[in-house]
Amino acid sequence: MSTGGSRVKKKRVPVPRREPAERIRDFNEVVLGYTLEQAMEEASRCLQCPLNFAPCVKGCPVHVNIPGFLRKLREGDVKGALEIIMETNPLPGITGRVCPQEEQCERNCIMGRIGDRINIGKLERFVADYARKHGIRPEVKIPPSTGKKIAIVGSGPAGLTAAAELRKMGHEVRVFEALHEPGGVLVYGIPEFRLPKEIVRYELEYLSKIGVEILTDVVVGKTLSLRDLLTEYDAVFLGTGAGTPNFLNIPGVNCLNIYSANEFLTRVNLMKAYLFPEYDTPIKKPNRVAVIGGGNTAMDAARSALRLGSREVYVLYRRTKELMTARQEEVENAEEEGVKFMFLVSPVEFVCDDKGRVKAVRLIKMRLGEPGRDGRPRPIPIPGSEFELEVDAVIIAIGQTPNRILFKDIPELKLTEKGTIVVDEKYRTTVKGVFAGGDAIRGESTVVKAMGDGWKAARSIDEYLKTGEWPPEIKPHDFEAEN
Ligand SMILES: Cc1cc2nc3c(=O)[nH]c(=O)nc-3n(C[C@H](O)[C@H](O)[C@H](O)COP(=O)(O)OP(=O)(O)OC[C@H]3O[C@@H](n4cnc5c(N)ncnc54)[C@H](O)[C@@H]3O)c2cc1C
Ligand code: SF4
Repeated sequence: MSTGGSRVKKKRVPVPRREPAERIRDFNEVVLGYTLEQAMEEASRCLQCPLNFAPCVKGCPVHVNIPGFLRKLREGDVKGALEIIMETNPLPGITGRVCPQEEQCERNCIMGRIGDRINIGKLERFVADYARKHGIRPEVKIPPSTGKKIAIVGSGPAGLTAAAELRKMGHEVRVFEALHEPGGVLVYGIPEFRLPKEIVRYELEYLSKIGVEILTDVVVGKTLSLRDLLTEYDAVFLGTGAGTPNFLNIPGVNCLNIYSANEFLTRVNLMKAYLFPEYDTPIKKPNRVAVIGGGNTAMDAARSALRLGSREVYVLYRRTKELMTARQEEVENAEEEGVKFMFLVSPVEFVCDDKGRVKAVRLIKMRLGEPGRDGRPRPIPIPGSEFELEVDAVIIAIGQTPNRILFKDIPELKLTEKGTIVVDEKYRTTVKGVFAGGDAIRGESTVVKAMGDGWKAARSIDEYLKTGEWPPEIKPHDFEAEN
């Protein structure tokens, strides 16, 4: 590793972004991204740690060769950079936008000891965007068919990554997706202003180009059963995510204009309700909205409500700002856009008007207690501290769990108490030939962890297809603990 002595540039090259007053009037992307010159300059700050040591690579769940792609980039070789990234990451335009790099590759970057860490996420994004705009595709050689057929259930990041990897090994891969558009949370959850759908579609085209077949409008468990898949395919991968919203069990939760974030964001993102009546799905445009929760979903819902024209948007969170699980960058974006935050509060009741519409949320103040089982301080209600906040809509974003009923026709498929699928360290489920990964095994997690699962599961599937070996008993591995 060479530090380049005094030539080391300590400061990051700033990333252009749109101004808050302008960006809250539409759903277009907030971050504009680097130019080629800016990207080359930022890439040239990298110290080029040797690959077997580079801590940034260790922090990346799909182990992108980060110094390798930064070296190509600083030489202006975008195609070379893209090919290196795509050796292990089939969706760079997506991960470059939505990964919490500050907790992964960038957190580990050696440059942090002497200055700003390298802006790896925005450079990955630059490479993907530049390549897309200039029609640069990686050259991928698919080996001759192995004759093995694999079914992938769910087209989110876990399923798509497993599909790409298995296809690159020469297997025949078919993806089954319940919705009318593939992408999972990437299309129905994360809004356009963070992740343009044009980019998701483009990156999905790459999968079709390498021969992955994607069938939409197929709900496995209804349209087809898992048993049907097991008779027709040599192996099955379940990447069905955690799409069932948690609700609050408090009085008034069925008042009108109380949404799950899942419904609200699906209407807005997948069905484009913000363009109603040009698109035929409606959405109420509320004036004063309360969003309950402190994760990425809460931020996306709050910022979408602002863009729909809401005058006041409150995020109500039961812990403190430091304990929010949302990406730091997105919390800052929301603050800049005018979202108001109330910390250490929790709803105890929703109050309806005489027409059954929500008119207020009754909150209780909280204090932080001892850490709970997840290691995070437990919020404790302060008796007698209740107060009301007037609102005309509420969006509940307090987490999602896997759908328990989808696999009810196959009772041998063991689930945990939380409804996640039990797997061993090789992503094998309790049904021979069936593997699983992503939010379906972890509960709500991140895009790149789901991709990491898909990537590693593909290797286990390949091994199984070659050996036919399956252990007599599956020893559960706690992937949730890795969250
Ligand atoms: C609003 C929101 C914002 C987020 N923001 C971020 C972020 O900024 N950064 C980040 O890293 N993570 C973020 N996440 C989390 C991230 O999106 C998930 O961890 C990731 O998408 C999980 O990938 P997956 O492939 O396991 O599942 P999913 O993306 O949930 O995909 C599962 C797919 O399976 C399909 N499916 C389910 N059951 C069946 C069935 N029976 N038959 C056929 N198809 C089925 C579903 O329709 C879906 O398309 C966010 C999540 C949400 C909800
Ligand atoms: S840790 Fe930082 S400086 Fe070292 S190779 Fe990775 S990005 Fe470059």
